Amino acid sequence: MKICVLGSGYVGLVTAVCLAKLGHTVVGLDIDAEKINKLQQGILPIYEPGLEELLTTYLQVGNLSFTQDLATALKDSQVVFNAVGTPPDDNRRADLTYVEAAARQVAEHLDHYLVFVNKSTVPVGTAERVRQIIQENLRVKTDFAVASNPEFLREGSAIGDFLQPDRIVVGVDSEMAADYLRQVYQPLISEGKTFMLTDIKSAELIKYAANSFLATKVGFINEVANVCDSLGADISQVARGIGLDTRINPKFLEAGPGFGGSCFPKDVDEFIYTASDAGVALQILPAVVLANKQQRLVVINKLSKHLGNLSGKTIALWGLAFKPKTDDVRESAALDIIKQLYAAGANIQAYDPLANKNAQVVLDKLNNIKFFNDKFLALKEADALLLMTHWEEFGAVKAAEIAPHLKIIVDARNLWSRSDFESLGLIYEGIGR
Ligand code: NAD
Repeated sequence: MKICVLGSGYVGLVTAVCLAKLGHTVVGLDIDAEKINKLQQGILPIYEPGLEELLTTYLQVGNLSFTQDLATALKDSQVVFNAVGTPPDDNRRADLTYVEAAARQVAEHLDHYLVFVNKSTVPVGTAERVRQIIQENLRVKTDFAVASNPEFLREGSAIGDFLQPDRIVVGVDSEMAADYLRQVYQPLISEGKTFMLTDIKSAELIKYAANSFLATKVGFINEVANVCDSLGADISQVARGIGLDTRINPKFLEAGPGFGGSCFPKDVDEFIYTASDAGVALQILPAVVLANKQQRLVVINKLSKHLGNLSGKTIALWGLAFKPKTDDVRESAALDIIKQLYAAGANIQAYDPLANKNAQVVLDKLNNIKFFNDKFLALKEADALLLMTHWEEFGAVKAAEIAPHLKIIVDARNLWSRSDFESLGLIYEGIGR
């Protein structure tokens, strides 16, 4: 099929490249000229494992291209995937400015039937709003459809998630739109992947309900971890013990500093508002948000337990990305905690294998923070080490390599073993064990 993908960010790029791999002819677009320039040369503007190789391959094969010229890109396109950002606005609602602008731009150039598919995470009712915008801005009278196809990929494993999805959720209101999307995903459907057709509102809601459920699972295990801390139990054992129950399953049962990232915080907030607008006062999710906020304090308190007043203390902090294998720092727990440490007067010496640059952009007004390109240099003259992201390279570090630099380790990801550090006379704090 001939497909346009609007937005060449984490989701749009993976979508464009993977659709090219599935055999479609794909044009990726973005309003950011620098991104498009780079992509045309085969240079990725973001980090995602395996993406660069696929980008190079399909640019060479010739069924993948990037442009800023929407009019040409839309010619003969049968499907437009909208993967533009929906960041939280100042009130923590999903900002639909980019989605609405994209719909308007498509309408202005549309002269034939196509399916406009919202892949971005958008509140219930957005497809209807997009349909209206397109209708109002058409310059040539033509039929079109709007569909919802929420994306469930995870940064760090996005390609595998796209090509081997647990399910493909598609919300449509016409048989023709369903047929188009069936054709898009035919290679995955024929491999036995579940293609779930539903109504548009349910598809939109599925994404929010899924992320909110996962965020709740994280919030729950963190609370159990805090109980473990107080009672002397071990959260790793407890999580394994409950996760072996197939009704519960072991995933998302890792205690830590609370969820962050580009999706969970904003999606949970938007879901609470969406429900409230619909007259439903949710009880569980506001508690999840509050518990998540308090979990940051659990981590900070572990530092102050051993360092006392944090003012003037130097904290080495390993890991800025919200999870390993990505350079994305949006709403990362590490950045949240840095801001709180900074407010308490601490100095921070930070290191991340990939996310230093993005973190610097977000934290540019904080002058008590230094960034390092070497994790051991970040430890020099620090009072404690705080591990925030469980990058593989941190897991490979031996306690003996840290021991010469400092004596207090707060492992907010339960990556290391307590006995390795304690046997060297160091103080080790995990989360719930
Ligand atoms: P992103 O910020 O990385 O990318 C969005 C891109 O859209 C940017 O490059 C921006 O320049 C571009 N853009 C904005 N307006 C445009 C327009 N009119 N035309 C063309 N391009 C335009 O965002 P992302 O992380 O890829 O997320 C996109 C959507 O997918 C969001 O709704 C998000 O919630 C959802 N989502 C994200 C993930 C994830 O892991 N990042 C996973 C599932 C769903």
